[in-house]
Amino acid sequence: MTFSAVIVAAGSSTRAGPGAPKPWRILGGRSILRWSVEALARAGADEIIVVTTADRMVAADEALAGLSGWRATVGGAARADSVQAGLAALTGADDQSVLIHDAARPFVTQGHVDALLAALAGADGAVPALPVADTLKRGDGVIAETVARDGLWRAQTPQAFRLATLRRAYAAWPADAEPTDDAAVVERAGGRVVMTPGDPMLMKLTYPEDFAMAERLIGQTRIVRIGQGLDAHRWGPGDAVWLCGVRIDHDATLIGHSDADAGLHALTDAILGAIGEGDIGEHFPPSDPQWRGASSDRFLSHAVGLVAAKGGRILNADVTLVCERPKIRTHRDAMRQRLAELMNLPLDRVSVKATTTEGMGFTGREEGLLAQAVVSVETPA
Ligand code: MG
Repeated sequence: MTFSAVIVAAGSSTRAGPGAPKPWRILGGRSILRWSVEALARAGADEIIVVTTADRMVAADEALAGLSGWRATVGGAARADSVQAGLAALTGADDQSVLIHDAARPFVTQGHVDALLAALAGADGAVPALPVADTLKRGDGVIAETVARDGLWRAQTPQAFRLATLRRAYAAWPADAEPTDDAAVVERAGGRVVMTPGDPMLMKLTYPEDFAMAERLIGQTRIVRIGQGLDAHRWGPGDAVWLCGVRIDHDATLIGHSDADAGLHALTDAILGAIGEGDIGEHFPPSDPQWRGASSDRFLSHAVGLVAAKGGRILNADVTLVCERPKIRTHRDAMRQRLAELMNLPLDRVSVKATTTEGMGFTGREEGLLAQAVVSVETPA
């Protein structure tokens, strides 16, 4: 039985934590998007439209390199707009079956697709659905009521329709409403949508924990990597200094191209070191005027994003500042808090320590400040 497919990969994925949007995260060496496209191609899709954002068209080419039978098109602000853009790009006949699929559900199998297409033969739509097993509560922090779960189901994707049915249903859908799936659109148009057996493996990877669970499911082994970073800046005239993302009033400042936050620079280098991504100077060349006076927060955030793009996460970080003055102790908690925020880590995974060199060497003579950082990062093997 032939069918075409629309894979929606145009969301912003704000719930998935820092890093690339969900479809572009790596799982077992392949992007989530590639998992989905490969699965539907393997199940027999003869035309696959990947709907993404304009700025991800090149990324789609890279993520799907070597695969055939797919094309990318630009979606809209809402999911419904993206689905309709995908439908418009399909070249199949009116009675062609089409599967609409969320890219963030990578584990579609031939069995799922066969069941949907078989069910569609006697209906206007077919949707994999799981009965709700947990007790349902309505409330906001406090439970207002327990909701009867009899007859309630969780709808998954892919969802199957005939091309003309779905196009017609979308044309009749009110412009000011936002459907959360495509079955809702066909239901509203009076269509008869049936359910096929859902599967926990069709889960949508939404939160960071979902990705960790997906890795366990595919037997992905993970390794722990260590990185270290070192940075020094010279003291000069000034009235405040930035250290570990915190501004401290002082009778001198550190001289540098950016804000000269040696703590953040050392930490950024440690993270880049752990994932084999060069050093801070390569990513943010001092010769580039756009980094003049820049807040070093963004250097750290960039490195944290690179870890996430590899499907990794930072486990802990330990920064040591070496200086006679300013005294770090009273600022240490604020520094830990800021670093924890920037790395999206619990506070007890972040350490800031300080030491003097008892008057010896360049830090002892207060010519400059030295910062050292060590991090551990967990990534797929
Ligand atoms: Mg530096």
